[in-house]
Amino acid sequence: MIKKVSSHIVQNEPLVFELSSPGKRGYQLPDLDVPPVDAAQALGAENVRSEIEGFPEISEIETIRHFTRLSTWNYAIDLGLYPLGSCTMKYNPRVNELVARTEGLAWAHPYQPEEFSQGCMEIIAALEKALAEITGLDAVTLQPAAGAHGEFTGILMIRALLETRGNPRKKILVPDSAHGTNPATAMMVGYTVENIKSNNRGMVDLEVLSRVTTDDVAAFMITNPNTVGVFEENIRKICAIMHEKGALVYMDGANMNALVGIVRPGELGIDVMHLNLHKTFSTPHGGGGPGSGAVAVAKVLTPFLPSPRLERDGDRWTWNFDLPDSIGRVRAYYGNFGVLVRALAYIMAHGGNGLRQATLDALLNANYIRALLEPSYDLAYRAPSMHECVFSDDRQAKKGVRTGDIAKRLIDYGFHPYTVSFPLIVRGALMIEPTETESKRELDLFADAMISIAKEVEENPELVLKAPHSTLIRRVDEVTAARRPIVRWKPQTKASQAAD
Ligand SMILES: *Cc1c(COP(=O)(O)O)cnc(C)c1O
Repeated sequence: MIKKVSSHIVQNEPLVFELSSPGKRGYQLPDLDVPPVDAAQALGAENVRSEIEGFPEISEIETIRHFTRLSTWNYAIDLGLYPLGSCTMKYNPRVNELVARTEGLAWAHPYQPEEFSQGCMEIIAALEKALAEITGLDAVTLQPAAGAHGEFTGILMIRALLETRGNPRKKILVPDSAHGTNPATAMMVGYTVENIKSNNRGMVDLEVLSRVTTDDVAAFMITNPNTVGVFEENIRKICAIMHEKGALVYMDGANMNALVGIVRPGELGIDVMHLNLHKTFSTPHGGGGPGSGAVAVAKVLTPFLPSPRLERDGDRWTWNFDLPDSIGRVRAYYGNFGVLVRALAYIMAHGGNGLRQATLDALLNANYIRALLEPSYDLAYRAPSMHECVFSDDRQAKKGVRTGDIAKRLIDYGFHPYTVSFPLIVRGALMIEPTETESKRELDLFADAMISIAKEVEENPELVLKAPHSTLIRRVDEVTAARRPIVRWKPQTKASQAAD
């Protein structure tokens, strides 16, 4: 009989600190052949430590195995469908990586002299031009580091424009179907937020909007398609109402993957919008990875764009810092350059027709999932879905099972959960964004899993309520994890050991 000496190592990986034993080394260095420096003398004794408390001591192979095992715990888009609504977790073509890792691009320093940066500047100029074309707007800044930062930049520009007209005004109107970052942005720029209730189709109520649009309103901030995945059918009328009152329209374009190649927001009357290059134009993101919140503006706002601006001087590119009306810099350097390179690679690899096809495929996939799941789950709004579909858990709640429970059960079926309990205007929301990069086979597997879970809810709700069953850690205390997160391991001191 084979004696099993350990339980499953992959699922029981201890902390690196727990693997440590004194004196183990993960490196070998030859003996020093120069006189040692007296660190205490060179740096001052108070700056030198002889020991790092709790520092893990493990061998090279233990280090490699430890981190490799941990890496297998991750769920990733390269493993399977990642249907987080609003996040656009699509496959990131490897050609983007190849281009971004080109030596001259990967190693370029942002403050190299202009004469050595012409290639990088050309890339920035080409991307600005492509995004202006895609959005139908006049100019683009690539400085903002992510979507919310793009919103902040855009609203700062609106404020600057209104100030030159003599009054920055007080309020920003935000529909309840907007992304949560929208009202947060308005507050950050010093405006108060007025919430506009959506009608039963998930759209803005024009009567309400006309009533609340006073001379105090600086802008209307709309997520389009909104967080229920619905395109605002009255967007032209909304822009007209705002413009008539001297207010501007900001569009949160993080969901632009539903519109690229089909709708150009500039032509609808949008004054300023951001794009999430890391979502729509495929940079690996999540876990706080680098992003880019490119902002496109109509002509009236161009004088206020962040400085510096790229300009053509004869046959070379140059940075212009002499912009008296600019809101100034919003970020060090010129933006997250690696993300910009990936976005341009993605755009150029696809071309106009390819981008349009990607959009159509994203819409098709979301509507395919919607059609497959409609018999098993309650649809939140009947209006046509764009790139994502939103259900409520109303039917399952009758059995005591909520959206979070269904999401946990989905883990047992090998899928990353969808977005849970967001948007807030849908009670018990299940928000699903499959993206265009998924095959019919993967979509069918996902739908089968969701339908199977709906059956379990009817027949054996306990099974779903206790999920996940297949993971090392089952249900965590999410409230405590959010309120009192412990994100750092601390060595047990003699005092704390005594207290234990
Ligand atoms: C993701 C998202 C944002 C925020 O973008 P970040 O890059 O995470 O700051 C804003 N609005 C919408 C609609 C989004 O989906």
